[in-house]
Amino acid sequence: MKAAVFYGPNQPLKVEEYPTPKVGPGEALVKVAACGVCHTDMHYLKGVPTFKKPPMILGHEISGTVAEVGEGVTAVKPGDRVLIPAILPCGRCYYCRIGRENICLNLLMVGNHVDGGYAEYIKVPAKDLIPLPSEIPLQEGAIIADAITSPYAAVVRRAELKPGETVAVWGATGGLGLNVVQIASALGGKVIALGRREENLKLAKELGAWETINLKEDKEPVRTVRRLTGGGADVAFDVTGVPQVIEQAFESIKQGGRFIVVGYSDKPITINAGRIMFRELEIRGVMGCRPIDYYGAIELVRSGKIRLLVSHKLPLEQINEAFKLLEEGKVTRAIVTP
Ligand SMILES: [Zn+2]
Ligand SMILES: [Zn+2]
Repeated sequence: MKAAVFYGPNQPLKVEEYPTPKVGPGEALVKVAACGVCHTDMHYLKGVPTFKKPPMILGHEISGTVAEVGEGVTAVKPGDRVLIPAILPCGRCYYCRIGRENICLNLLMVGNHVDGGYAEYIKVPAKDLIPLPSEIPLQEGAIIADAITSPYAAVVRRAELKPGETVAVWGATGGLGLNVVQIASALGGKVIALGRREENLKLAKELGAWETINLKEDKEPVRTVRRLTGGGADVAFDVTGVPQVIEQAFESIKQGGRFIVVGYSDKPITINAGRIMFRELEIRGVMGCRPIDYYGAIELVRSGKIRLLVSHKLPLEQINEAFKLLEEGKVTRAIVTP
C-alpha cells in the first residue's frame, strides 16, 4: 500500500510503498478515507519520540470504511463507515473498568505506539471502531476522531459545563480552540474567545462566541474577562500550552470556578496556592477522549449544532506541505486523503 513513512525527526515524511497490514482475530482492516494533520504529529517530527521505532506511520485522526475483518469479528462488516479512535484502550485495567479509558494504563495511541493513518490502510482492533452516520461526510468526518471529540470531552466531561455559564477560551483561534468555542456555545455556554488571529476571532463569533478578545491588542485580558463576566468566568480553558497564558487563564476564573488544562507544555507554571484554597478553585486536566465521548460529539455534528472546520484537504503526497501550513498557522484543520 501507499503510505507516508516517518523515518525520524527533522526529515520529511516519505510517500512510498509500505506493507499492507494483515488482519488477525478480532481485528479490522480499514481503508483510510482521510486523516487529520495534528500538532501532536508535528511534535514527533520535531523530536518528541514515538513509542514505535521509525520507520513507522504517524496520524491519529482517521475515518474510513471497513475493508476486511478477522476471525470472530461481528460488530462491523466490510463497507461500514467508521471512525478510528486516537486512543485504543486495553479494556482490562482499573481505568478502563471505571470508564476512564482515555487514561488506560496500557493504552496504544494510533500513529505513536502502532502505525497510524497517513496510509491507504490501517489495522485496528474491531471492538474500538465507532460507526459514523451517513449524514456526516466521510473525509471531513475524520477530524471527529480527535480535533472535535477531545474538545468535546474537555467541555462536557471535565468542565461539566452547564447552560448559562460563562466560559473563557484562551487560545480560541487555533483549530482545537475554535472547537472548544463552538461546542461550549452549542451547549449553552456564554463564551469569550481569546486569541491572536483576528480572522479566526471573527470565525469564533460566527460559531457562537459571545465576546472576543484579541490578545495582540488587549494587554490586560484577565481584567477584560473579569469586567465582561462581572468577576471572572465560571470556566476557563487553556488551549495554548504556553505557561504565561496558562497562568492568565487560571487568573480569569471566578470564585468557585473551574480551570481546564487542554494545551500541552512540559514547563512549570506559577499559580497562587492560597487562591485555590480561599476561592475553592478547581484545576482539571484533560487527555484525549473516551469511547463514550464520540457518540455525543458525532450527534452534535450530525444534527448541525457544530461544524467540521476543515480548511485544507490535500492528497497524501502533499503531506509535508500540510505540516508546513500547520506550522505557519495557516490552517484550522488540514486533512490528507490517500
Ligand atoms: Zn491530535
Ligand atoms: Zn486499560
